[in-house]
Amino acid sequence: MENYKCKSVGIIGSGIQGVCIGYQLIKKGVPVTIFDRHDPLSSNFKPASYGNAGHFSPYAVLKFNRPDVLKDVPKMLFSSYGPLALKWNYVLKLIPWIKHYLKNCNTRSMLHTAKYMNQIARSADEAYEEIFKEIDITNLVDKKGIIYVWSNKNLKSRELEIKVRNDLGIKQKILSKKEILKLEPNLSPIFDAGVLYENSMFARDPHAILKKIFKLFVDKGGKFIQENVKQVLQLEKDQTLIKSESNDYNFEKAIIAAGAFSKRLTDQLGENIPLDTERGYHVHFKNMEHLISRPIICLDRGFSLSPMNQGLRAVGTVELGGLNNPPNKKRIDYIVKSAKEYLPQLGSHYDEWLGFRPSLPDFLPILGPSKKNKNIIYAFGHDHLGWTLGAVTGKIVSGMVTGEKTNLDLDPYSSKRFN
Ligand SMILES: Cc1cc2nc3c(=O)[nH]c(=O)nc-3n(C[C@H](O)[C@H](O)[C@H](O)COP(=O)(O)OP(=O)(O)OC[C@H]3O[C@@H](n4cnc5c(N)ncnc54)[C@H](O)[C@@H]3O)c2cc1C
Repeated sequence: MENYKCKSVGIIGSGIQGVCIGYQLIKKGVPVTIFDRHDPLSSNFKPASYGNAGHFSPYAVLKFNRPDVLKDVPKMLFSSYGPLALKWNYVLKLIPWIKHYLKNCNTRSMLHTAKYMNQIARSADEAYEEIFKEIDITNLVDKKGIIYVWSNKNLKSRELEIKVRNDLGIKQKILSKKEILKLEPNLSPIFDAGVLYENSMFARDPHAILKKIFKLFVDKGGKFIQENVKQVLQLEKDQTLIKSESNDYNFEKAIIAAGAFSKRLTDQLGENIPLDTERGYHVHFKNMEHLISRPIICLDRGFSLSPMNQGLRAVGTVELGGLNNPPNKKRIDYIVKSAKEYLPQLGSHYDEWLGFRPSLPDFLPILGPSKKNKNIIYAFGHDHLGWTLGAVTGKIVSGMVTGEKTNLDLDPYSSKRFN
């Protein structure tokens, strides 16, 4: 591998994974073309990487494959008004995801996910800092920390999170209600306590940051083609084909970084990966971002209040309902009503958005070659942490492409774990 030089790479997807991988590869001197059906610089570019809550949250390594969460799931699903919802017309299609979820929902798997999420997440901020040296992030990134608030009714779950993070050496500061209200005096006192991740970064406009990284990629010689990709194939040992609706393109290697839509391409490669989506929503309250100084995650309600440049963004919740169901007005009503309970000063909202988190049932992303085609590389399934992990995914996957040595144990991210 020592003198190996990759000749060309095609990346499907210009979400945060795709642009960060492209940026790293171009820096290594590899010719790269990114494909997306939407132009990342346009106003109709609205994937998960556009509308998320903006948290850089490398500490959020404990995921939903926890026995305590499983216990609450039936109750949550049958309530039409809560942090988790199910589109009943999608239940049959969700069965493969549910089967793997149940297999992975136990203390051993929970700790495995936390350990290997932490293995990559702990370098996540550093990887972004490297990119931020090359782009102007004035008014785009804050470092005032992120606060989670809760009421004592689910205290056992909160104690578990605190313990697992302590065991992994993650810094956290437990706050009393009084301390939280001192930091965020406009919040209604409808919680009991919380935790502060001091100095955590926050993106005040994720799309603006993504656009800057994309422009940097293009300035360094990266190419972009706005087309919908229908299929990816490995032709010969060192040749892959990306087939769009109108053209065929050859590259030495192809990377599938199409977020929640990646399964449409991987199914054609004969790999039955149980990728699905956890749908989430956002709305904005114009000129209300001054009400809070940093993001506040309301754990009882499963959503975040994020002070964005566009206004105060109320964002989150999980809806299991696939990629094709229309947006659900009830979910928007839930977020709006919950936001007003925490911040009664809020008036009317605008800009209702539905986004698709790429969700794998053990909550670790897939990073690595396809099972049967070593030159087709996967980089998707980052779920709730995909914004946080964009830059570090760029480093890891670009290293895989160019055959660099790494100290990381990358086996846990292989797609083979689902076979
Ligand atoms: C409500 C919500 C809040 C969130 N909050 C946070 C947060 O605070 N912090 C955090 O770390 N993460 C958060 N996330 C998760 C994060 O946003 C995602 O995990 C991440 O953006 C996924 O990035 P991606 O590049 O994999 O996919 P995407 O951003 O979905 O991008 C995929 C791209 O691929 C393109 N594409 C797909 N198929 C094709 C095709 N066949 N041909 C051409 N183009 C194609 C799409 O057009 C799209 O542009 C949140 C997500 C949601 C929904």
